[in-house]
Amino acid sequence: MGKENPFENAIKTLQQANEFAGVKDEILAKIIKPENIHQFTIQTAGKKYQGYRVQHNSARGPYKGGIRFHPQVDINEVKALATWMSLKCAVADIPYGGGKGGVACNPKEMTEAELQAVSRGWAKAMAPHIGAWKDVPAPDVNTDGQIMAWILDEYEKIVGRKEPGAITGKPLELGGSLGRDKATSQGGFFILREAMKANKLKHNTVAIQGLGNVGGWLAEILHKEKFKVVAVSDSRGGIYNEKGLDIPAVLKHKEMTGAVLGFPGAKGITNDDILELNVEILAPSALENVITGANADRIRAKLILEMANGPTTPEADKILGTKGIIIIPDILANSGGVTVSYFEWVQNLAGYYWDLEEVDKRLEKKMNNAFDAVHATAQKHKISYRLAANVLALERIAKAMELRGW
Ligand code: NAD
Repeated sequence: MGKENPFENAIKTLQQANEFAGVKDEILAKIIKPENIHQFTIQTAGKKYQGYRVQHNSARGPYKGGIRFHPQVDINEVKALATWMSLKCAVADIPYGGGKGGVACNPKEMTEAELQAVSRGWAKAMAPHIGAWKDVPAPDVNTDGQIMAWILDEYEKIVGRKEPGAITGKPLELGGSLGRDKATSQGGFFILREAMKANKLKHNTVAIQGLGNVGGWLAEILHKEKFKVVAVSDSRGGIYNEKGLDIPAVLKHKEMTGAVLGFPGAKGITNDDILELNVEILAPSALENVITGANADRIRAKLILEMANGPTTPEADKILGTKGIIIIPDILANSGGVTVSYFEWVQNLAGYYWDLEEVDKRLEKKMNNAFDAVHATAQKHKISYRLAANVLALERIAKAMELRGW
C-alpha cells in the first residue's frame, strides 16, 4: 500500500463525477462526510489495539461493510473503504448504505485465542451501534467466517436474542449463505464477461495480484472458464508461466506451503512485476494504491478488473485512461460480495435458505444489471466506467437523501 490518502482520493473521484451527476453542493458535502466515526481501544489480556467503524451514509438503508484486520489499518483507510461501500451498494442497487470497520493488528502474529479476544472486543465496543436494521458488518482482509461467528456470538450475548442478520459472511451453520465464499469473485467474473462482450474483447491471458480469498476464487473461476491465468502473487511474491498456470495445483501448493512462490514449473516474479506483465486482463486483488503515478505508464494490460478496493490512484487512473486501458472500477467489479451478503441477510430475515443455484442465478442478474447501468451511464456522458459508476451511485444516494428530506 502506498502513502496516498485513500479517503482524499475517494473524494476527488466523487467531485469529478459530480460534474456529470449534478448533485446539489450541500447534498454532495453531506455525502462526502461520514455520518458516524467510531474509534475505540480493544483491550485483551496482554495488549491494546485500535479499533474502528466508520458509518458513512445510511440514506438507502442500514450501513453495510466489512471489518479489516491489518497492521496498516488507519482512520483514512477505513473512511475511504466506508465511502466506497455506500457507492458500491448504490451501484449494485441493494438497499444498504455504507460502512467499514477495522482493527490495527497483525493476525499473522496472533494466537487464535488473541484473535478471538480482539473479535469479541470489537463486538463489545460496537454492539450498541450495529444490528440487522442498523449496521451489518462482514469479513474483509484477514477476517473470515470464524471471526464473524465470534462477533455474532458476542453481539447476541449482549442484546439477549438471536439476530443472524446482524452480520454476514457467517459460516453456513450459523445462517451463512451458500455461495458467499466465492461471491466477490463470481460477481467479478459476471461483470468481466459483460465488459468483454461490450468492448469486443476475447478470452485471454490474466494476471492476478493477491491470491487470497478474492484472488484465489477468481483464479479458480477464470481457469474453469478457460482463461489463461499466467501469473498470480501473494504478499511474499508472485509466479509466472507464459503457457498458463495449473490453478488448482497452485492453490494446493499455497495451502500446503503458505505461499505461491516455489511452485514448480513457474518463475518467481515480484509484486511490482506482476502488474506490468504483457497480459490482456490484470486483476489487482490485494490492497489499495498499488497502481500509481510511478508505475501506471508501464502497465500493459488491456483491461483492469479492480477486485481489490482502491488499487488505482487518481493520478494512475488518468495515465491509464490516456493509454486507452479499460478499467472496471472496484465499486462495480467487486460488488458481488456485498450482493451475496445482501442475499444472506434476506435469507436470515426470512428464515428460509436458498440453494447455490438460486444464489448464483440471482447474483448473475444483479451483476448484469449493474454492468448495464454503468455502461449506459458511461456511453451517455462519454466517460470512463469509474466515473460512470460514481455518477450512478451519486445520483441514487442523492435521490434517497432528497426523498428523506436530508
Ligand atoms: P485476503 O486477506 O483473503 O487476501 C489478500 C491477499 O493479498 C493475500 O493473499 C495476501 O497475501 C495478498 N497480499 C497482501 N499484500 C500484498 C501485496 N503487497 N502484494 C500482493 N499481494 C498481497 O483478502 P480478500 O478478502 O481476498 O480481499 C482482497 C481485496 O478485495 C481487498 O481490497 C478487499 O477489500 C477486497 N474485497 C474483498 C471482498 C470479500 O468478499 N472478501 C469483497 C469486496 C472487496
